[in-house]
Amino acid sequence: MEKKNIDWANLGFGYIHTDYRFVSNFKDGAWDEGVLTEDANVVISECAGVLQYAQTIFEGMKAYTTADGRIVTFRPDLNGERMEQSARRLEMPVFPKDKFVEAVRKTIRANEAYVPPYGSGATLYVRPYMFGSSPVIGVKPADQYQFRVFTTPVGPYFKGGVKPLTIRVSDFDRAAPNGTGHIKAGLNYAMSLHAIVDAHNQGFDENMYLDAGTRTKVEETGGANFLFVTRDGKVVTPKSGSILPSITRRSLMQVAKEYLGLETEEREVYAEELPEFAECGLCGTAAVISPVGKVVDHGREICFASGMTEMGPVTKKLYETLTGIQMGTIKAPEGWVVEV
Ligand SMILES: *Cc1c(COP(=O)(O)O)cnc(C)c1O
Repeated sequence: MEKKNIDWANLGFGYIHTDYRFVSNFKDGAWDEGVLTEDANVVISECAGVLQYAQTIFEGMKAYTTADGRIVTFRPDLNGERMEQSARRLEMPVFPKDKFVEAVRKTIRANEAYVPPYGSGATLYVRPYMFGSSPVIGVKPADQYQFRVFTTPVGPYFKGGVKPLTIRVSDFDRAAPNGTGHIKAGLNYAMSLHAIVDAHNQGFDENMYLDAGTRTKVEETGGANFLFVTRDGKVVTPKSGSILPSITRRSLMQVAKEYLGLETEEREVYAEELPEFAECGLCGTAAVISPVGKVVDHGREICFASGMTEMGPVTKKLYETLTGIQMGTIKAPEGWVVEV
């Protein structure tokens, strides 16, 4: 397959039109077979449920080329499972995870010419999503839905090297207790836009959100989970019902335990304890781990020992091991790396 003429190493993170996308419609209580189409436009009623009451959910994953030239994706079954859970919470029909994985593989295969070569640092970002497509004016779930998968090539995350982030403890809340923080829904992002624009205007890279109930416990940022490393090398991640269960974070915790022999703990983490940690990182599909150098809590600066120029040693080991597993240079646990 001939690759597209793209300057992979200098790609950013933006939408680039690719050749094919997958579309399946839900009508009269059932999903149709679904097709690949070259039509990138969506035509829906002006009164569609998604437009009026934000009934929409999504997933985010990557396809890439391994060291031995296979095109693969990482743990797509977990994205499928998570999308099932998101659908249930927003009263949307479940798109079964097996069909989800098949649709993702089909879409990647159809856009193989856009999968960046091994070593370029770039990847093909894959965006499955679903929305209420039929008219809704009285508040209720839509009757009809569309599930789609598109792809877009994205550049290396750490262009020009790793640069630890400075984040602030936010006065805005991300998710209510017993709300929708644990599902991947556009609505969680719509209400975070003001907080992130404000953070950027104040010179911060990200917001650290605390639990909305007591405002004492660390939850996550707008789009990534936290990992902390204690001074004696234990890997800690916050536990809360309103955190989005990151697949990267869950994988890194398993890597810490099973590959690196580190102690791991998922527990409530209080903002008060932040100065006790040696390293801090943000985990998500996009970067795997972005190191955090500094947290600013209302003027009080908490600087991690790992500093502002590089990843901390444990964070780095975690990053290298998981990316090695993904790229096929380190043996993966069964089912983690799926050929498309
Ligand atoms: C998608 C997302 C993450 C990261 O999840 P991954 O499965 O690791 O990509 C973390 N937090 C939020 C709020 C997210 O939407």
